[in-house]
Amino acid sequence: MNATDPFVRLQTHTVEAAWRRYDEVQAGPEGLNAFLAVDRAARGDGAGVLAGVPVAVKDNIATLGMPTTCGSRVLDGYVSPFEATAVRRLRAAGAVVIGKTNMDEFAMGSSNENSAYGPVRNPLDRERVPGGSSGGSAAAVAAGVVRIALGSETGGSVRQPAAFCGIVGIKPTYGRVSRYGLVAYASSLDNVGVFGASVAEAALGLHVVAGHDRFDATSADVPVPDLTAAARPTADARPLAGLVVGRPVEYFPASLDARIAERCDAALQQLRALGAEVRDVSLPSTGLAIPVYYIIAPAEASSNLARYDGVRYGVRAAADDLNSMYERTRSSGFGDEVTRRILLGTYVLSAGYYDAYYKRAQAVRALVTQEFAQVFASGVDLLFTPTAPTTAFRLGEVSDPYEMYLSDIFTVTANLAGIPAMSQPIGTIDGLPVGGQFMAPHFGEATMLRAAAALEQAYAAEEAR
Ligand code: GLN
Repeated sequence: MNATDPFVRLQTHTVEAAWRRYDEVQAGPEGLNAFLAVDRAARGDGAGVLAGVPVAVKDNIATLGMPTTCGSRVLDGYVSPFEATAVRRLRAAGAVVIGKTNMDEFAMGSSNENSAYGPVRNPLDRERVPGGSSGGSAAAVAAGVVRIALGSETGGSVRQPAAFCGIVGIKPTYGRVSRYGLVAYASSLDNVGVFGASVAEAALGLHVVAGHDRFDATSADVPVPDLTAAARPTADARPLAGLVVGRPVEYFPASLDARIAERCDAALQQLRALGAEVRDVSLPSTGLAIPVYYIIAPAEASSNLARYDGVRYGVRAAADDLNSMYERTRSSGFGDEVTRRILLGTYVLSAGYYDAYYKRAQAVRALVTQEFAQVFASGVDLLFTPTAPTTAFRLGEVSDPYEMYLSDIFTVTANLAGIPAMSQPIGTIDGLPVGGQFMAPHFGEATMLRAAAALEQAYAAEEAR
């Protein structure tokens, strides 16, 4: 038995160990507030690759037996009558779902400060944010409560918190993981994603939840290769020989924090040492991704969130007539950011503005997608970039919504194009983790994981020296 083998570490982190750690970190004024609900009675069925492994699930993914609130007052106490396919698959593999994790309301945010149930603290520095919107899941893994957790991604909500918390986060190809039971935010962008304490553990989690599902019409009927094999440690000194890694110049602007650029350069140097060829490439429309995302995502959100009207789900405000009931439920149920997005989305979809905003945004989205396809068709296997432009910022430090949106500047592109991407730790700045991002062509998760595992192994070897 090898104690540094991530699969061994995963098997030895028991449910009892998870509860011990949970009790140490969750509650109190300095507590992480990473969980919104827990199930102390949860037991695994004993079989499968995740037998007895404690896992946590973001609170916008439907579970039986625990509430699914999406971090919103409007769904306070709401319990789903069915379970998400991803959760069902985790349980079928033997995993023990210990709780639901805190998040930005309806997955809108980059710091977890938009939760109706209070912010999550970063386990590495409790005065800082864990990132968002899947901040609770990221904090739960970084704090060592669980080693695998589910999150969701619409524009970076797994990768950015993974970067801020110093763990691994994967956003799979659009369609790779069933979204049945994932509460919709922006349906053309939404994915279920996976956090892991290591590349191998994230890969194992993804492998368990991936694959076609007849309950989700957007799930892809594409075979899933052995993703855990892709992430296995190797004895080969140049395991990436023959691999071409593109360095998109637009992701390394002159304005990029020099220390983050330096960590990325060092990672690219490692990739070269592992045998990869690194090549500069260009994705010229990258700069338009944030404005395009913040038209498309709110537009789809305004439609998806119309269902929270006090009639079918969650909380209902008291009122004398139906229209004031709708109005009061929605004004008291939604927080500021969600309200802002609904207003913005309704505006860009309204008659007269649709062509000017939504249609143009879709055209630019097609261009972003096409540029990725061209780069990958030119012989580039993977792309490597920073995950986020900063390390974890202080609670309350970023108050301007637009500045908050810029947190996703390097991540939203993969969601717009539907390609897989992941973040992994590539060093620290003043003790705070820096994330490096790989992006791959559609359904190219295995290649991405292979490179990520080799890079992780190189860092570990460097540290051991
Ligand atoms: N921060 C982005 C937003 O607020 C991305 C969120 C996400 O991926 N769910 O929309």
